[in-house]
Amino acid sequence: MVLRLLASNFFGKFKTQKTNSGPYHWDAAVAANSIHTNIIINNLNLRITGSRIPLHVVKRPTIIAIMEMSQLKVPSWTRHAGLLHGFMGRRGGKSIGPYAGLNVSYRVGDDPKIVSQNVCDMKLAVGIHDGRIVTMRQVHGDHLVEIQDRTLKEAGDADGMITSERDTYLGVLTADCVPILFVAPKRKLVAAVHAGWRGTLVGIAAKTVRLFKSRYDLEAHDLEVALGPSIGPCCYEVKEDVTVPLMKTWGRLTTPSIHVRQGKSFVNLRRLNRDILRASGVPGNQLFQVGPCTSCATDDFFSYRRERSETGRQISFIGWLP
Ligand SMILES: [Zn+2]
Repeated sequence: MVLRLLASNFFGKFKTQKTNSGPYHWDAAVAANSIHTNIIINNLNLRITGSRIPLHVVKRPTIIAIMEMSQLKVPSWTRHAGLLHGFMGRRGGKSIGPYAGLNVSYRVGDDPKIVSQNVCDMKLAVGIHDGRIVTMRQVHGDHLVEIQDRTLKEAGDADGMITSERDTYLGVLTADCVPILFVAPKRKLVAAVHAGWRGTLVGIAAKTVRLFKSRYDLEAHDLEVALGPSIGPCCYEVKEDVTVPLMKTWGRLTTPSIHVRQGKSFVNLRRLNRDILRASGVPGNQLFQVGPCTSCATDDFFSYRRERSETGRQISFIGWLP
């Protein structure tokens, strides 16, 4: 019970008081991520149980929250004043167990109250105050949705969103798939796309480029695109059911993205999406790759493959301040 109370209040300052031999204070300005913090709490609880020191949790801590979240950004995008974007990692949230830290998905079995707290903490940390983050029920297809409704929080079944609304942030949830963020600075438009191997196969990135043209009359060279942390060719081993359709659809474009090592096939999904975007007309110097392989960097990112399906989702987001 005490442990549960502590676990839900671990951000901040705790105080213990020993009553039999004068006051004794133990203050913990907890600044670590939740995994680390839980270890501290477990140790503290054991020590206190052993010596029967009554424990008082300070309900209104002086330090509300110090979050060590990681937010990867495209350095050159800082020149677009008013653009907010980031590829968040898993560090810094309040989820525990297989979802430990900053899980933002309600669909993976995590406690929805904690997920909602994570989303709030993350919004504050990145500077989204009154704005909304719109997400989708990602289904590994190529359906793109235009977000116009100012109250919408979820776009339904889709794998990409585009908007011209200010203070509306498009969010993609991933744990190995490629999060792709698009910006058209001259018209202040953004898009966010989810591309796993199926989304890559159906060309969702290329379709997004075409949507900018058909809907907003923007050319591919008006776009800047960033591909975030996702499983790399070091770890993404696949079978023929993946490589054959990819090669059939994308032909020569797959040459640098599909490798065979010791009879096993590996796909570089980010590279393939980058080459598809390049072939769609986005200039090479306007394409960015941000962050490592999620399966190699599991302390920093959720990886579906590495964690054998039971894990959280990190969020990548983009939008313009009001
Ligand atoms: Zn890897």
